[in-house]
Amino acid sequence: MTKYVFTTGGVVSSVGKGVLSASLGLLLEARGLRIAMMKFDPYINVDPGTMNPFEHGEVFVTDDGAETDLDLGHYQRFTRAKLSQKSNATTGGIYNAVIQKERRGEFLGKTVQVIPHITDEIKSRIRMLTADSEDPIDVAIIEIGGTVGDIESLPFLEALRQFRLDVGPPNCCFIHVTLVPFIAAAGELKTKPTQHSVRALRDIGIQPNVIVCRTGSHVMGPEQRHKVALFCDVTDDAIINAQDISPLYAIPLNFKRQKLDDTVLRLLGIEAPAGDLSEWEAMVERLVSAQEEVQIAAVGKYVNHDDAYKSINEAFVHAGAANDCKVRLTWVDSEQFEKGVDVAGALKSYHGILVGPGFGTRGIEGKIKAAQYAREAQVPYFGICLGMQMAVIELARNRLGLREAHSTEINPRTPDPVISLLSEQRGIQDLGGTMRLGAYRCELKPDTKARQAYGEDVIFERHRHRYEFNNAYLEAMVGKAGMVVSGIHPKGDHDLVEIIELKDHPWFCASQFHPEFKSTPLRPQPLFREFIAAALRHKAGT
Ligand code: GLN
Repeated sequence: MTKYVFTTGGVVSSVGKGVLSASLGLLLEARGLRIAMMKFDPYINVDPGTMNPFEHGEVFVTDDGAETDLDLGHYQRFTRAKLSQKSNATTGGIYNAVIQKERRGEFLGKTVQVIPHITDEIKSRIRMLTADSEDPIDVAIIEIGGTVGDIESLPFLEALRQFRLDVGPPNCCFIHVTLVPFIAAAGELKTKPTQHSVRALRDIGIQPNVIVCRTGSHVMGPEQRHKVALFCDVTDDAIINAQDISPLYAIPLNFKRQKLDDTVLRLLGIEAPAGDLSEWEAMVERLVSAQEEVQIAAVGKYVNHDDAYKSINEAFVHAGAANDCKVRLTWVDSEQFEKGVDVAGALKSYHGILVGPGFGTRGIEGKIKAAQYAREAQVPYFGICLGMQMAVIELARNRLGLREAHSTEINPRTPDPVISLLSEQRGIQDLGGTMRLGAYRCELKPDTKARQAYGEDVIFERHRHRYEFNNAYLEAMVGKAGMVVSGIHPKGDHDLVEIIELKDHPWFCASQFHPEFKSTPLRPQPLFREFIAAALRHKAGT
């Protein structure tokens, strides 16, 4: 029978519920338990796909094409939980489903209300998560976005209160992640905000069983732990101190030392063997001990939000670990190259150049110039999605002489649309959930860098785009521009170009898909790994 862990957040947002949930997932899996993971988001967007990543953070894509919250990226990197459309639900999605049922007359004349109809829908999502899983799920870990006390999270918390009674209180464990600030003037950590936040949770009828205290760089002493335990009515062993820890992947080891998994399993009445984290520990050790450093320029719009490219940043951490080096990723503003700044001057100190995903026109010409520089100066180049499209445009312009070649996304009237709208995208008006999304089959060509990197003939990678390489230019690009198509998605009447590379270059690879979404610290993504290996060779001058 499935047991449930619910994680809520207190005092402030961004308190680390996602990493806590993912870490617990890892610790439970290490003990042989099968887990499922899910996140509820209290905003009204039906999914985060239409939200600005520079405000909300990256949109994480699952195999089955769900556009989800970036916390699912943490779940993916820390655990083996299968993530799908069922793993993320928002207020907008829940209301949408209830309103559609109402329109179909399924409520048989009843007044449709938050309780029970919205709460029923929330509870049914939790059941759906585990219901038709091929193998029975031992523990479902469900994170509630937002902060306790917000108006938006109320229906979710009320649904959890009911759910606990539905499945029986011993089958549920509530973990509250909260901020315990250090007040410099007093010289101590203050537990009062946490007490208030737990009181707010209790008002709704939920008594947390475990309290995880974020304390910045400070560590709680036994007295402070006891104080939180006393005021919040939990046992001392259920107070977990989450001080800031780096690297990110060492965080679960801190929770393990404090026996978070033992406490949760005791509360849920589950017996499980001690568990083995040695592979994870070895990975953390490699991360920490790497001496060599490689400098990568990520050329794009200036972004002041690390989370906007969360999975890419993490995939580089994984690729670094695989190559026993640290990857320093520096964002280089592509717009400056349009204003006369010398590309070679700005990029010459880097060992590799990345042009990543993106939408819209800003900084586009600068990205094309960066691709040209990487090709001509023989610097390793990695293009992701838009980064592949820019590399194609650059080749068409500078090797085929098609001076105005472009993507129709940027210039709908270009005489040479080397990148054009996917045929199935024609006529689509709605922006939400309508891109080419999720995993598609990609067949790799022998004797290519891509085939070498993956060591397999067929791969599945995740997509999120509307535009593609225009096959009308295939012959010229392959025949005259020296482009190698190393991966294709076979598609009945025509093949979609999925990976391109260059023959006369140490390492120039670009994919239409997003390889970052499948990278994990224990299984670094092959293209990222090989790009960093090439950057190391470039650095060494070999
Ligand atoms: N804007 C491009 C497209 O829609 C690239 C998308 C991306 O980089 N994710 O095809």
